[in-house]
This record gives sequence, C-alpha cells and structure tokens, in this order.
Amino acid sequence: MASSAWSFALARLVGVLLAATALGWLTGYLALTVVAVLAGYLAVNFTRLYRLERWLRHRRTEEPPDLRGVWGDVVALITRIYRRKQYHKRRIVQVFREFRRMTTAVPDGIVVLGTEREIQWFNRNAARLLALRRKIDFGQRIDNLVRQPDFIRYLEKGDYTVPVVVRAVYDIEVHLSLHLIAYGAGQRLLIVRDVTREIRLEAMRKDFVANASHELRSPLTVIAGYVDTLADDPTLDATWRGPLDEMRRQADRMRAVVDDLIELSRMEASDGEAGNDAVDVGGMLALLRRDVIARTDRPREVSLRVESDALLLGSEQELHSIFSNLVTNAVKYTPADGRVDIRWWVDAAGGHFSVTDTGLGIPREHLPRITERFYRVDPGRSRSTGGSGLGLSIVKHALQRHNAMLQVESEEGRGSSFICHFPARRILARPAAAAG
Ligand code: ADP
Repeated sequence: MASSAWSFALARLVGVLLAATALGWLTGYLALTVVAVLAGYLAVNFTRLYRLERWLRHRRTEEPPDLRGVWGDVVALITRIYRRKQYHKRRIVQVFREFRRMTTAVPDGIVVLGTEREIQWFNRNAARLLALRRKIDFGQRIDNLVRQPDFIRYLEKGDYTVPVVVRAVYDIEVHLSLHLIAYGAGQRLLIVRDVTREIRLEAMRKDFVANASHELRSPLTVIAGYVDTLADDPTLDATWRGPLDEMRRQADRMRAVVDDLIELSRMEASDGEAGNDAVDVGGMLALLRRDVIARTDRPREVSLRVESDALLLGSEQELHSIFSNLVTNAVKYTPADGRVDIRWWVDAAGGHFSVTDTGLGIPREHLPRITERFYRVDPGRSRSTGGSGLGLSIVKHALQRHNAMLQVESEEGRGSSFICHFPARRILARPAAAAG
C-alpha cells in the first residue's frame, strides 16, 4: 500500500515537472515556470505537513485530517500506533486496578521495601495493622516506623525463614506476626498478620496443660501410695499380686507422663533462653552412666567418653533432662546384646554430646516426627517400656532454649545416633586452677 502511494506520488511529481517543462518551453520562460510549479508543489506539501502537525498536537480533540496519498498513509500509521498505545494504557490501568482490589481483599498487610529498607508501597491492611499513613510514610525507612526491638533484630539478622511476633504499639493486647520475604534485587516484602487469636489460644492450651497436670499429680500420688502399700503387704491374697503389680506399673507410667507434662509446661512458661549455670557435663554424664549400669534391663556395654573438661553454660536441670532422656531412650530401645556409646567433646564450632546405640533404629519415614508430643514409632512397644512419649519433645524444647540443635541419624534394625550441638558461646573453658 505504502509503495503504491509512493509510486503514485513520484509519478505525479515527474508528470508535474514534465508539464512545467513543456509549458516553459512553449512560453519561453522555462526556468521561471519550473520554479513556479515546484513552489506550488512545495506549498501543497507544506500545507499538508502543517495540518498533520496541528492534528498531532490536538489529537485528543480533533479528527484526523483527510489527506490522500503518502500523507494519508502517514496519518493512518500514526492513528494505528496511537490506538495501540491507548489499548495498552487501558490494559495497564485495568491490571493495576485489579491488583489494588486484590491487595485490599488480602487479609494480610503487605509492605514493599526497597534496598534501603524504605517503604515503596503498602496495602490498606498494612496501614491498619502497623498504623502507617498513606503517602506520608512512603519513602520512610521501615525501622523508623516499626521500632519493636524484636523486629529490628529480625530485620538485621537476615534469616527470614520464620516470622517474628511483636506486640502492636497502639494496643499491647494485639500480637502481630511480621514475615520478611526477600525478592528481586535486594527488595523485600513484609507480610503482616494479626495473630492475637492464635497467641491467646496457645496461651490457653499451655495454661490448661499446666493446670491439668498439676491437678492430676496429687490424687495420683495418693493412689500410687496405696497401691505400693497394698503390693508390699505380705498377707495379701496371691490372686491380687498380678493385678496390683500391673496397677503399680500403670501408676508409674501415669506419673512419668504427668511429670514430663509439668516439665514441658515449665519450659514453655519461662520464655526465651535457658539460664547460665556452668555445668560440669563430664560429672553429670558419669552419674547418669552409673544409674544406667545399675539397671537390670540394660544393654551389655554402655561406654562413656568425656573428651573435654570444658563447662557448658545452661540450666543444670534442663541439661540433665536432655542427657537423661536420650541415654534412657538408647538403653530402652537397645537389646541386651547391643551397646550404647555416650560421648562429649568440644571443638571450634561448640560443644557436642552424642548417644549412639546398636538398637532397633527408627524407620526413615518416622524420623521427621519423633520429636512431636506423644509420637511413637511403635506405640505398643514404647508403652510397654513405660515411655511417656514426651521425652524427645522435652529434649527438643530444652535444646532450643540452649540455642542448640538436635541431629538424629538412624537406620532401622542397625541403631541410632542422637547428637546435640551446643554453640561455642555456651562453652566455658575450665579455670586452670580447677582443671585436672
Ligand atoms: P518414649 O517415651 O515413647 O520413648 P520419646 O519422645 O522419648 O518417647 O521418643 C519418641 C519415639 O522415638 C519413641 O517412642 C521411639 O519409637 C523412638 N525412639 C526414641 N529414641 C530411640 C532410640 N534410641 N532408638 C529407637 N527408637 C527411638
């Protein structure tokens, strides 16, 4: 189309020039005629250019000029480009409106942060939950507006795997979960959720478990006391011996469950990190081993290797609970001809405690869940061994309070290894005078 318009325009120009030459030759004013005709031609084109320029300037209100030939093609082309641009603009506005409606409908607060932690954008819920002001707070650094120390620490730490929970500044009863998600080139998304209800329910659950286990303890002690007295009575009818022994075993199990529940509740109630007693791990483990050796149902070999006399900073009671639960489990789940190795060592990374057994092992699919409350690989068997099903939950919880990590390696039928890794800052070299 364009090429035909161009050929027509060229042909017309040639025609006009030929006519001008013929006319000039006839009249004897060749140069003048050609110049006059060319000037006319130029004038026509200037007029069209002028109309085109005027229309481009006022294209919103004016209809496109009715031009023919090459100029008409140019107008058509511009109209097409303009329409396409209008279409894309409408699409973008539509998508943007859609996005705004969507982010308003999301129940969470969303804040977009730039590389300098500055607020680039936030939705309505973020404004409500964090008391941010639209427009005014755009461009402000988030740590100038959300100043809870826990959040600042979280922001600086750079490990955003789990959210941090803080209290809202306008109402300390309101708990907010703040979760950062890194994306793009140094940008971050802050997701804000009101978790007051969850926190309240969790507190109620903890209170309930703590109260219920305390309430159960006293009647249980009384019942167990009577059962013990009856079972020890030499005049007792022989037919009662079996049932009473069973009652005694069950009462012991109940006591183990209640005691473990109380211990878990106590740890949950005292938030944060464990204390800083300087604990002599070697001494504690030697006593533990002595208790194990005294048991009749123990594996043939129970070894202890204490490779460091460094002290471990933590809660003596909780550390005892960790070591004792892991050692008791190893002994419980290892047959008489097996062995259990206990080891304590210190290196640059920190302190490490391990219990390795050649016992039953744990099938791979159960490994991720064994630290859950009341989770048992083989419920029948562990009930018969008198386990509460809470031992590993206590271990996990106590380790968390010591900033430590539990590593479990196990192979079904071959044995298990439970390794606790304590951070270097919890290790204290023994003073020279006391060493040796
Ligand atoms: P329990 O009181 O039943 O021993 P725990 O929380 O201490 O409860 O352990 C959870 C489950 O993990 C146990 O029931 C058992 O199946 C498994 N387990 C723990 N330690 C060992 C181990 N050393 N060897 C094999 N299985 C183990």
